[in-house]
Amino acid sequence: MKIKQFSGGFFFDASTNKLKELFQVKQNNVAYFEPEKVVIPFDQHIGSPNKLIKKVGDFVTKGEIIAKSSADISGHVHTSVTGKVIAVCEVPALGGKTQTAAVIKRDPSKNTAESLISPDFSFEKAVRAAGIVGLGGATFPTHVKLNPASHIDVKTIILNGAECEPFIASDDFLMQKESRKILRGGEIAREILGAKTILVGIEKDKPKAITAMKKAAVKIPNCHVIPLPVKYPQGGEGQLLETLIAAESPLDGRSVETGAFTINVATAFAISESVDERKALTHRYVTICGDVKMPQVICFPLGTQVKDLIDYCGGFIGTPSRVIHGGPMMGKSVTDLALPLTKGSNGIIVFNEAHDGKYPESPCIRCNRCVAVCPVRLEPQNIDLAYRSGDLFTCDQLLATACINCGCCTYVCPARRNLAANITQASGEIKQEKEALADANK
Ligand code: SF4
Ligand code: SF4
Repeated sequence: MKIKQFSGGFFFDASTNKLKELFQVKQNNVAYFEPEKVVIPFDQHIGSPNKLIKKVGDFVTKGEIIAKSSADISGHVHTSVTGKVIAVCEVPALGGKTQTAAVIKRDPSKNTAESLISPDFSFEKAVRAAGIVGLGGATFPTHVKLNPASHIDVKTIILNGAECEPFIASDDFLMQKESRKILRGGEIAREILGAKTILVGIEKDKPKAITAMKKAAVKIPNCHVIPLPVKYPQGGEGQLLETLIAAESPLDGRSVETGAFTINVATAFAISESVDERKALTHRYVTICGDVKMPQVICFPLGTQVKDLIDYCGGFIGTPSRVIHGGPMMGKSVTDLALPLTKGSNGIIVFNEAHDGKYPESPCIRCNRCVAVCPVRLEPQNIDLAYRSGDLFTCDQLLATACINCGCCTYVCPARRNLAANITQASGEIKQEKEALADANK
């Protein structure tokens, strides 16, 4: 199967908006899927790399740590099934790269109880032991985020249920099903940080989730569920803060400086399970939609491979042309269906040849549409031109590193310029250069 490379917003236009109805998940309940084997990458977080602490042949119990690091900025990785480690090998990663993973064959005959976190742990220690990272896509370790600099006075906990990417309904279903636990996660964060208020932001096109969350919030003091306008990228941290508390988030991404601590609703759910039920992060919800026979939201064990989920959804409709990990605006290409889904996975979208846009790039016509839509007020066309000419210095001057990779500039560009992908690339290269310089100066 030949799958095209993809960068956010690249092929998505007004005509593909018609796909919204077609691609919308219409089921009522979340499906639960257990594959025969899981492929668990050691590193599913931003921070120091983990080391495998198991070996081929070991028997592992669901919830048991299989890879970890002693560094603070890291996230433990647990096995999501009970079974035997049958291999440690290189497996596909996003961006055409590879990553090291443990392959664990499930053993349904073993009725071993799930491995749980010590009941003696404090809230913060439980969150760390559970390997929780930002599940909105950032994958930054949550226990580190819950420990901001001492000068920061956190007043508000914001639970992000915006889920603004088209087609993706994972958080929508989670809020409908687990509203009580999500709010409990918010209460735990409020207690850790000494905040007063909990605000839950949900886009208005999720009426069932809003109803469920409002019902669960009634008995919680200073907790408010706020329906948000349906607009992209409403779920970006900066955009959410602007809408909910009229605060402007710093361009370097440290939004906690505003006194508001933001976490995704799935992260709040995981916090609640780690503290109250002593469960590690082993499962999450994912939306499989687009040109598959049975689009649906599935609760899957981490390490499930894309191909197994597509099979579970009845296979492809037509000839697949693009498979996207994440949403159509910010997602990335899946170039190998053996890719395992990890903590940062919330959606897989399939486009077949009939639904895939074909848009060749043409020269910039200086219309400034990309500037008008950029939520962080960058000049995408100028950063793009500088990057294409190899001028990273100018990219840095134009604040390429503040790009949130929302894909809006690419989406609106009449010349179909591949702006978001180039700006993200420029941002990565600038950060790498700066890190190398800092290392050399140590
Ligand atoms: S440059 Fe602006 S519009 Fe383009 S991807 Fe980055 S943040 Fe979004
Ligand atoms: S939207 Fe496209 S054509 Fe218009 S200024 Fe930006 S890069 Fe150029």
